Amino acid sequence: MKKIVFATNNAHKLEELRRIFAGRMEILSLRDAGCFDDIPEDADSFEGNALAKARWVKDRYGYDCFADDSGLEVDALGGAPGVRSARFAGVDHDDEANNRLLLEKLAGLRADERSARFRTAICLLEGDSAPRYFNGAVEGHILEAPCGTAGFGYDPLFVPDGWSRTFAEASGEEKDAVSHRGRAVRALIGYLLK
Ligand code: IMP
Repeated sequence: MKKIVFATNNAHKLEELRRIFAGRMEILSLRDAGCFDDIPEDADSFEGNALAKARWVKDRYGYDCFADDSGLEVDALGGAPGVRSARFAGVDHDDEANNRLLLEKLAGLRADERSARFRTAICLLEGDSAPRYFNGAVEGHILEAPCGTAGFGYDPLFVPDGWSRTFAEASGEEKDAVSHRGRAVRALIGYLLK
């Protein structure tokens, strides 16, 4: 089976990607590729960060690879936390602290004032080709308290449009079918396997 490096060590993202790619391509993590670096993510867009991660791996390790950068945009917060989603409450990527801070910032807002979306940008670097981007988004709203234990990040607070449950109350397959990452990855698979 064809292999490709996914420039992440986020176990949750890796699990989602391997589930979506299942049986079509083998996905190697950064560790599988021998890369243990803490790759800087200081761009001001999802595309910029995805490119930085993919470029780091391609230039230093020589593998064709792709990287995902993703996050949550909350309309009432002017699109925050956005590219800072992982570090919203500080640098240590603490999901619970991030969710608490988000709830504090939205305190007192009605359901119709809590609209938000998840976005993913995937950047693919193959051979000498120019970077290729694949994007996905899912619209929804932020609850007033966490619900569910599946998934990661802001999943316990996010209800996609048309659902009455959070991503953290859904199975992995249900999330993949509508999620920002599911959409972007299916576009990537369509391109890679064409
Ligand atoms: P990244 O590793 O810089 O792309 O960080 C993405 C951050 O955005 C994660 O740490 C989560 O806080 C949030 N995030 C991205 N995708 C998801 C998702 O599918 N569910 C919940 N939170 C997510």
